[in-house]
Amino acid sequence: MHILVTNDDGVMAPGLLALAKAMRELGEVSIVAPEQNWSASGHVKTMHRPLRVKEVLLPDNSRALASDGAPSDCVALALLGLVESQVDLVVSGINPNANIGHDVTYSGTVTAAMEAVITGNIPAIAISLDGPDNHGAPLDFTPASAVAKRIARAVLKRGLPKGVFLNVNVPFLPLDQIKGYRITRQGLRVYRDSLDRRYDPRGRPYYWIGGEAPTAIPEEGTDYGAIASGFVSVTPLQLDLTA
Ligand code: MN
Repeated sequence: MHILVTNDDGVMAPGLLALAKAMRELGEVSIVAPEQNWSASGHVKTMHRPLRVKEVLLPDNSRALASDGAPSDCVALALLGLVESQVDLVVSGINPNANIGHDVTYSGTVTAAMEAVITGNIPAIAISLDGPDNHGAPLDFTPASAVAKRIARAVLKRGLPKGVFLNVNVPFLPLDQIKGYRITRQGLRVYRDSLDRRYDPRGRPYYWIGGEAPTAIPEEGTDYGAIASGFVSVTPLQLDLTA
C-alpha cells in the first residue's frame, strides 16, 4: 500500500512527522507538503503562477517534498504525476487544532483530503487533534497518531464509498482516556470574530479579523459533541453541498 501524507501546517510541523511515522507502519509513504503554514487557507488551486517543489529532510532525516503551493496543490501535484507510483490513500494532518462544523471549508487540512477525491478519486482522511489554544509545551501527537493508524488501516482494508472522505477529530486526551469512536455529522461552530482596525506609522488603517477563539455547540451526534465527551469523531464528508 502506498500512502500520501500531507498537511496544512508546513512540512516541518511536528504533526506531519508523527502522522508519517504512523503511516509507515501500514505501507510505503510519500510526503508532499507545503513549505509554509497554510492553515485556514481553504480549497486552493494555484493557476496564475508556477509551482516549485524541493526536496527536504524531516527532523528524523527522512525525505519529503515541499511545495510553495497550498495543501490542495500538494495533493494535486502528487496525484497528477509528481509521485510516480499509484497512491492508495491520502492522509492529511495531524492538525494541532480541531476542524469541526464550518471549519471544513476554511481548513487546509480538510481541503487537502477534498482534493484527493477530486483529482484522484481515491480515499482520503483528514485528521486533527483538538489541542488547546496557546499551548506552551509541544503537543503530544501520540494518541492522535494511534487513531490515525487505526482508521487508515480500516480504510485501506475496506475502502470508502466513491466521493466520500473522512474528517477525523481526536480529543486532547491520553489514549487510555479516549472513550471510543463515534461516526458523526458536521456540527455547528460558533465564531466570535471581530474586526480589529489598527493604524500603520503612516496613518493608514490595516485590519485583522480577530476576536476570541471559536467555540462550538456540543450537540449529540455531531463532531463537536463527540470530542467534547471524549470520543474520536469520524465524520464522512462529500463535496456535493446541495441543500
Ligand atoms: Mn493547520
